[in-house]
Amino acid sequence: MDRPVKARYPGGPGAMSKGHASQTPVMRQYTAAKEAHPDALLLFRMGDFYELFFDDAVVAARVLDLTLTARNKGAPDEVPMAGVPHHAASTYVQRLLEQGFKVAICEQMADPSKVKGIVPREVVRVVTPGIAYDDTGLESRENHYMVSVERATEGAGAYGVAALDMSTGELSACEAEDLAGALAELARLDAREVLLGPGAGPIASALSETRPRAAVRAVGETMIEADADRALDAQLGAGETRASCPSAVARRAAARCVTTAQACEAGRALPISRLVFHSPGEILALDEATQGHLELVRSNDGGARGALLAQIDLTRTAPGARLLRRRLLAPLAGVPEIRRRLDAVELFVAQPGLRRELRDRLSEVGDVERLAVKLALDRATPRDLVALRRSLTELPAVADALARCPEPSARETLGIPAGGPWLDDCAELCALLAAALADEPPPRAADGGVIRDGFDATLDDVRDLMRGGQRTMVALEARLRDSSGIPSLKLRYTRVFGWYIEVTKTHVDKAPRDWRRKQTVASGERFTSVELDEIADKLAHAEERAATREAELFTKLVRDLAACQERLRAVAARLAAWDVACTLAEVAHRDDWVRPDVDASLDLTLVDARHPVVEKLAASGRFVPNDVSLGAESGRPRLWLVTGPNMAGKSTLMRQTALCVVLAQMGAFVPARSAHIGVVDRVLTRVGASDNLSRGESTFMVEMKETANVLRGATRRSLVVLDEIGRGTSTYDGLAIAWAVAEHLHDAIACRAMFATHYHELTGLAESRPGSCENWSVSAREHAGDLVFLHKLQRGPASRSYGVACARLAGVPEPVLARARAILVDLERGDGSPGGPVSPMHGRSREQRPQLDLFDGQTRGPPAHHPALEALRAVEVDRLTPLEALQLVANLKRMANDA
Ligand code: ADP
Ligand code: MG
Repeated sequence: MDRPVKARYPGGPGAMSKGHASQTPVMRQYTAAKEAHPDALLLFRMGDFYELFFDDAVVAARVLDLTLTARNKGAPDEVPMAGVPHHAASTYVQRLLEQGFKVAICEQMADPSKVKGIVPREVVRVVTPGIAYDDTGLESRENHYMVSVERATEGAGAYGVAALDMSTGELSACEAEDLAGALAELARLDAREVLLGPGAGPIASALSETRPRAAVRAVGETMIEADADRALDAQLGAGETRASCPSAVARRAAARCVTTAQACEAGRALPISRLVFHSPGEILALDEATQGHLELVRSNDGGARGALLAQIDLTRTAPGARLLRRRLLAPLAGVPEIRRRLDAVELFVAQPGLRRELRDRLSEVGDVERLAVKLALDRATPRDLVALRRSLTELPAVADALARCPEPSARETLGIPAGGPWLDDCAELCALLAAALADEPPPRAADGGVIRDGFDATLDDVRDLMRGGQRTMVALEARLRDSSGIPSLKLRYTRVFGWYIEVTKTHVDKAPRDWRRKQTVASGERFTSVELDEIADKLAHAEERAATREAELFTKLVRDLAACQERLRAVAARLAAWDVACTLAEVAHRDDWVRPDVDASLDLTLVDARHPVVEKLAASGRFVPNDVSLGAESGRPRLWLVTGPNMAGKSTLMRQTALCVVLAQMGAFVPARSAHIGVVDRVLTRVGASDNLSRGESTFMVEMKETANVLRGATRRSLVVLDEIGRGTSTYDGLAIAWAVAEHLHDAIACRAMFATHYHELTGLAESRPGSCENWSVSAREHAGDLVFLHKLQRGPASRSYGVACARLAGVPEPVLARARAILVDLERGDGSPGGPVSPMHGRSREQRPQLDLFDGQTRGPPAHHPALEALRAVEVDRLTPLEALQLVANLKRMANDA
């Protein structure tokens, strides 16, 4: 049985034992359903309500703020009970899912008025946080993922991560080589529910901190490879699975998603037809910290505004919006595919007329992707069909616009096979919908009037009868009014009482004797007559036949459309890709972005680059562009040390560089005048001393953990951006760590990297590594004691820290500033400590300061041929006795002193 971790799946068979013996037939039904779904809250349909009993009732009453009542109150077999009206179920279910609960929906399987004895009931659906109940629980512009993580049984620490979006039928999987990789994938997917297989425990604790909205559930039993393949083959078609997904652990994770969804959908065929496998090298890796620091989809305050996505999302369709978001969080790492996407964007940049027309058309197109899935799961409403009809009506115009494109290579650029149609316009589906569906049908099929007149002869006939009956009713009303002489007489209908003749108090004595009294109300009397009963009977009969026929036709219509779901989804996918390409072209046009030249080199050259969000929001209209030139080839500067006063724009510069890489590799133009980008395998950014107190870890610990991840994860092809690392500890400590990290990045990893620092000492690193490490600073000018930020990059380290000027800008009182200036002068002159201990490093000349080259002796350390070193090299450590070791140390010290 599943073991809840965070999600609180309450109840259990134990809770059912009380009152078992004396149960009524209905409660026996309930018990059977609950025993089949012990880990879910059971919503048990009784008439117009869904009732919850026992512990479920207690929990639901608390979570949903319902009144807790009792069945058989006061009796020994009293049962706690709470209920929600069936028409409002959606909102309540949604709230339970948001709280991490799993919900089982038990329906009445027949009309209670038509069965003798007890109504049959069945659990028709189980919903979990990862599978939304209906549109209320879905964000139209985001995917809704259930993710499953499995641990590899063989080999080192690999994880399989699979994601299923049941609202679109997308199933994907990948293999992460370690915990960090799995967590990055989880961050990218932003799952609503995570199923953790055995051995995936370490993920649970990490998730509880970073993904508060995901319900995390440990699934006890191992998913065996053979079972997994069988489950996937059954869903996707035999043999397909191994070919499309070579990783066994990824297949196991995918199978877990599929079997979980199958269990929820009680026998329905799932709309999942493909498993998309991402091999690790295919995607530009962005770990969770990087996603956060770059503010890709959420800004630092957690909102969407201020994030890159909000700036670039001009998509016109929901599937387009979802695709754009997915691409932004998973840019590519392969040059040909990136170029193909850029080609499409370039086409729409060059064809503004086509772009405008397509975007206009797309505005009229609904969420065909999710509509297709609703059809497949038999959950489409008449209004959904209206949305589909409207969408399909646009397709010929979309195809026509593209066909008129004057660019001869357009077809190839957009990947349309030669001779094939631009778009499957689904003409016969559109015609079917036009013929069958009324112009403005009611929200629910049961309300009637969904099918258009003239579509079905049988329905037309019964509708004629029905309308005839209605006309007869109107005529009867007029006749009764005349014959009785009651001018206010009305024929009325209620669901409970049926048809009746309404007579007000004043005229009651005029009612003919052959009318039968039905009911007395405050305002008068309600009668019926033999004639009225007869007509009402006929009418009811006709109405019922019309409703039945209409229900049949609607079901058939949905089924016919569902049979074409693959075509609809293919159309949706194509439209989404065009929507994204048009959007990125629109952004490029609006903000003057350029096509990046992406290749397999190790270059990163940006001319007049800007930060896409700061340029539009904080520094709108006065943003200063800057150039960046990094290269991991030998002879190129690969490490930039960036200094400058606070608020000068260091962080902005570094982030815009990383963002240009992300944008380019997702297939977008970039905010620059020109860009040459050698493809990057991972972007790793870290900001020092970011506040993580809420996680209960010291900021410095977090900073160091993140730094460790960067140093472990980066390769020569990576882009590393470190912003003020080493700030969270004492000056010496921090400087030492910053220095060692920068050195390691430069010497050992040798990747393209930018390192912003407030440690001026660090700029010395560039002197010892000419050509491959450069100092840059973001300029500011001190003017009459005030700081003026120019935001312009210049070569060389910043001349000074400007700390005091910055403090003034921030409003530190003048006496304090004056004292600070005096201390600064003392310190810089080397006059020792003015009134208290200060850092011993100040007051010495640069030459007198201790060596900062901590870990590598090549450049500034002791000379390579020092006798002490020679002696050390000759030592065989394993053979030394303790005494010999002591003597060795004494000798070494002597040599060191002699030198
Ligand atoms: P630092 O990291 O050096 O302290 P930031 O990068 O955080 O500075 O920038 C501080 C502010 O300066 C930003 O919020 C932005 O409003 C402004 N700014 C940064 N770079 C530029 C630029 N190139 N042009 C105009 N304004 C800028
Ligand atoms: Mg900064």
